[in-house]
Amino acid sequence: MELHVIKKGIRKQLTKNFNSSEFECKCSRCKEVKIDMDHVRKLQKLRDDLGAPISINSGYRCPAHNAEVGGADNSQHKYGTATDIVVKGMSPDEVADACESFSGLGRYDSFTHVDSRSGKARWDKRSKKEYLPPEPTEDDINVILEDLEDELLR
Ligand SMILES: [Zn+2]
Repeated sequence: MELHVIKKGIRKQLTKNFNSSEFECKCSRCKEVKIDMDHVRKLQKLRDDLGAPISINSGYRCPAHNAEVGGADNSQHKYGTATDIVVKGMSPDEVADACESFSGLGRYDSFTHVDSRSGKARWDKRSKKEYLPPEPTEDDINVILEDLEDELLR
């Protein structure tokens, strides 16, 4: 953890491909952005490995904004250690597969969450509705019960 606190709007270059404005909270009230440089260096390594631009959908969130967007109370976004990313030319699933070296990794339908927490965390919030078998209806269950009854009476 190497926490930097930088004023919003000054666009300070952090690594070859990332500057501080990309990590800013999206609200209009807070004045500073918290950024963990260890996390930014990991993002830069990912960018170098993939050879493709990384867009940051959400970086630092001040506590008020984090609550507004329904973020978890202990969200890593509040500490400047998390980013929701999209990589040009890659699906969120492919991006997630390339992010196993991050201690925190969350899979979503349209982006990938990576963070540099001290422990390890993995989660999957994709809807995946198309992969789920349909729930049996009451009619289906009645048919199954009738079949069972037939079998027992035989
Ligand atoms: Zn804010």
